[in-house]
Amino acid sequence: MKAFEAVQHYFHKAAHELGMESPMRKLLITPERELTVQIPLRRDDGTLETLVGYRVQHNSARGPMKGGLRYHHEVDLDEVRGLASLMTWKTAVVNIPYGGAKGGVTVNARSLSKNEKERVTRKLVDAIHQVIGPDSDIPAPDMGTGHEEMAWIMNQYAKYQGFNPGVVTGKPVEHYGIPGREEATGRGVGLLTLKTLGRLGRKSAGATVALQGFGNVGTHTAKFLSEADCKIVAISDQTGAWRNPKGIDIKAALRHVNQNNGQLEGFEGGERIPGDELLELGVDVLIPAALGGVINESNVAQVKAPVIIEAANAPITPEADEKLQERGVIILPDILANAGGVTVSYFEWAQNRQFYRWTLDRVRGELDRTLTHAFEEVWDRSIERTLGLRTTTFMVGIERVARAAELAGVA
Ligand code: GLU
Repeated sequence: MKAFEAVQHYFHKAAHELGMESPMRKLLITPERELTVQIPLRRDDGTLETLVGYRVQHNSARGPMKGGLRYHHEVDLDEVRGLASLMTWKTAVVNIPYGGAKGGVTVNARSLSKNEKERVTRKLVDAIHQVIGPDSDIPAPDMGTGHEEMAWIMNQYAKYQGFNPGVVTGKPVEHYGIPGREEATGRGVGLLTLKTLGRLGRKSAGATVALQGFGNVGTHTAKFLSEADCKIVAISDQTGAWRNPKGIDIKAALRHVNQNNGQLEGFEGGERIPGDELLELGVDVLIPAALGGVINESNVAQVKAPVIIEAANAPITPEADEKLQERGVIILPDILANAGGVTVSYFEWAQNRQFYRWTLDRVRGELDRTLTHAFEEVWDRSIERTLGLRTTTFMVGIERVARAAELAGVA
């Protein structure tokens, strides 16, 4: 199943439980606008390359559309469409006043120098500045992008539409960003992992965790969970996977990546194992925090963890999801598990609009409160209706979007 089809599959399951008729379903799954743009890139060596970029604005019934910008070689329109629709449900689940969007450029981010990245980002803004804006569509970081790109977006956008820091979130803290945005997705994943274990009556102290991905989300998840006394027994990134049954020293791993261009390569705090094996370890909690589709029909039978927390977007294919559900595996879905990032993006946007600085304590407190509320709502409803967590989470989101569309008289 391709990315957009996979999200639609979950959508229809939930819409069915809600008793939603097909005309409304059609309205809610159809993206409002899709833009494909040309991005001419002059490489540092003078050669010309032409890249393709996308922005899909899925739904604005609940507010300005919101979602990250991904620089990755596998980005295509279908993937961006799928991710944009996930953002619509994600912002609704945590009940922040946004719709959903997503963008991307098909390029290997690691192949770009800093100057090339800047040129790509500015060209992208040249091509999409008319459709983004603080009241219409607000980009943010995703795979392959970070605070530098966001600062360039703000600057380039200002040349066309005037200065407005609320046009983009995930900016550098000292340049209109907010403290706690960088850690937010990982903090949320960690917090909700503890809540999930708590609701299952399992102790988090000493719980064993395998974590795939050691980028922004993975590192902050690891930090949060190790500080909560969980035992992270395996970690990985694109350079390899490491296992240590006694628990990986996360502080040492963080120091290593900080001194090693963000990569785990050369890490000595564990035994090296093949990357695929990490997903198949007999741990209490498995956290995929990297690419989509990593748990699929080819490896689902080998996955042993009884709890999976989806830190990445769409890490489990619908086929594998079905099999895991049959086996009673508890899956906390992406649109809830990783919603901490967009939640703090909302705080950043609010801060920008107020020109008032939020403290880290305030950000953390409001983030924890927002996520806890959404989690409790989904969990209680899932028990009440004896439905899986994913279907219930989608139901909460879909219901809110449908209600907003009705109230606004969209349909
Ligand atoms: N890219 C992140 C996500 O998938 C964050 C989006 C945002 O902050 O707008 O949720």
